[in-house]
Amino acid sequence: MKSIGHWIGGKAVEGTSGRRGPVFNPATGAQAAQVDLASVGEVDAAVAAAQAAYASWGRSSLVKRTSVLFRYRELLVAHRDEIAALITAEHGKVHSDALGEVARGLEIVEVACGIPQLLKGELSTEVSTRIDVASIRRPVGVVAGITPFNFPAMVPMWMFPLAIACGNTFVLKPSEKDPSTAMRLAELLAEAGLPDGVFNVVNGDKTAVDRLLDHPDVKAVSFVGSTPIARYVHSRGIEHGKRVQALGGAKNHMLVLPDADLDAAADAAVSAAFGSAGERCMAISALVAVGGIADELVAKIRERAEKITIGPGDDPASEMGPLITREHRDKVAGYVGGAREQGAEVVLDGTGFTVKGMEDGHWLGLTLLDRVTPAMDAYRDEIFGPVLCVVRADSYEEGVELINSSAWGNGTAIFTRDGGAARRFELEVEVGMVGVNVPIPVPVGFHSFGGWKDSLFGDHHIYGAEGVRFYTRGKVVTTRWPDPADAGVNLGFPTSS
Ligand code: NAD
Repeated sequence: MKSIGHWIGGKAVEGTSGRRGPVFNPATGAQAAQVDLASVGEVDAAVAAAQAAYASWGRSSLVKRTSVLFRYRELLVAHRDEIAALITAEHGKVHSDALGEVARGLEIVEVACGIPQLLKGELSTEVSTRIDVASIRRPVGVVAGITPFNFPAMVPMWMFPLAIACGNTFVLKPSEKDPSTAMRLAELLAEAGLPDGVFNVVNGDKTAVDRLLDHPDVKAVSFVGSTPIARYVHSRGIEHGKRVQALGGAKNHMLVLPDADLDAAADAAVSAAFGSAGERCMAISALVAVGGIADELVAKIRERAEKITIGPGDDPASEMGPLITREHRDKVAGYVGGAREQGAEVVLDGTGFTVKGMEDGHWLGLTLLDRVTPAMDAYRDEIFGPVLCVVRADSYEEGVELINSSAWGNGTAIFTRDGGAARRFELEVEVGMVGVNVPIPVPVGFHSFGGWKDSLFGDHHIYGAEGVRFYTRGKVVTTRWPDPADAGVNLGFPTSS
C-alpha cells in the first residue's frame, strides 16, 4: 500500500511516530494509501528546517524569489493534468473540476510572480531638512498553513506562494484525508529551485496542528476549514502571540428576485449547489425564492438536477463525484430524513443512490428540499454535500433579513434584472463576497478572499493585497544624512524644520 510521509528540509521523509491514518478512494470506498501522522518532534523538525532556511531566504533578493516562482508556474502548467488526477484519486471530484481548482491556485502563483510590484514601499523625501521617511514591509518568519480536504491544491496555493514570495518560509499541514497533492506541490517547488527548508509539509492531525499553534518559532498561521476548528485555531494561535487568519465554514444563500431570468437562475443554482458534490465553502446551499416564483423555479432546478451524471471522477462522463468519506456521506444523508420529519418537502432524494459496480463508494445523489424554514436543521447547519434547500420569502427585505441573520457570511448571490435592487443588496447584505448574477463569487487572485462573521476569524482576508499584508510586517525608517556643518548636541525633542 502507498505510504505518504512528510516533506522536510527539501526531501521526502518517512514518518516515525508510528501513527497512521487511512486515505480512501472515495469512488470505490477502498483504502488507497496510508498517511503518517506527525508527532510533536516531527513538527519541530519541520519548523527547525523552515527557521534555518529563513536566515537566507528572508534576505534573498526579489529577483531570486520571483525566478523560482516563474519556474514553478511553468511546472504547474506542465503538470496540471497529473495534479488534477491526484486530487480526483483521493478527493473524488471530477477531473474537470480538479483542473479548475489547479487553475485557481495557479492564479495566486501568478500574482506572487508580481511581488516586486506588490512589495514596493512608500517614501517621503525631505519630510524635514535632509530627513527622508520610508515605509517598508518585511517578512514575518516561519509561517504555517493548515488546510481542509475539499481543495487539496487550491487552498494551500492561496497561502504559500505569497508567503514565500514575501520572504517567509512555510510549513504546510494539509488535510489527512487527501495528502498526496501537497507532497507533489512540494516536489515541484524543489524542481523549480526553491532552497531546501523554505517549504515543508507535515502530514498529521490535531497533534500536528496544536504543535504548530504553540511553537514559538511559528510567527503566523493561515487556516482554512470548518468554523469550530477555525475559532479554536484563531484563539489558540493568538494566545501564543501569532497573527492568525482562520477561514471557517459557510451557508451561502442565493436570493432570486421575481424579475430574474429563471432559466439562468436554475442553471446557476444547480451548478453552484452540486458542483464538487456540494463540498465547496462557496457552494450555494440555500436558495431564497422571492415572490411567487418558487414553484416554477423548483421545477426548473429539478429538471436540470435529474439530468446530472454521477460517477467516478476519472470518468469523463461524470459531472459529480462521490463524497469524501463514508461517515460524511452518512451524515449528509441524515439531513434528508431529518428535514422531511421537520416538515420540508423532499423534491429529490439522493439517499440510497449508488453507482453500479462501485457500491462501496461514498455516493449520494442530488437532493432538493423545498419549503425549508430557518428552524430546520438542514437550514441551520452547514451540510457540505449535494443538498440544496429552498426557502420561500415574500419580499426582498425578508430575504435579506434571512441572510443577515445567518451566523455565517462567506458568500452570497442575487439574481435579478434590476440594477437598483442589486446595488441595494451589495450594500445591505452582511457577507464578505457578493455575486450579482454570479453564483460563486470567488474573487480573482489580485483581490482577496474572505467571509464575515463565523466564516472568518482574524483581521485579514486571504491572498491578494490582504495576503501580502498578512505575510509581512511594516517597518518605518527615518533617515538623516547630516551636513557636517550642522554638527552639535541638541537635547530638544526632534521636530520638523
Ligand atoms: P476541518 O475543520 O475538519 O479540517 C481542517 C483542518 O483542520 C485539517 O487540516 C484538519 O486536520 C485540522 N483539524 C481538524 N480537526 C482538528 C482539531 N480538533 N484540532 C486541530 N486541527 C484540526 O475541515 P474539513 O472537513 O477538512 O473541510 C471542510 C470545511 O472547510 C467546511 O466547513 C468548509 O466550509 C470549510 N472551508 C472553508 C473555506 C473558506 O474559504 N472559508 C474554504 C474551504 C473549506
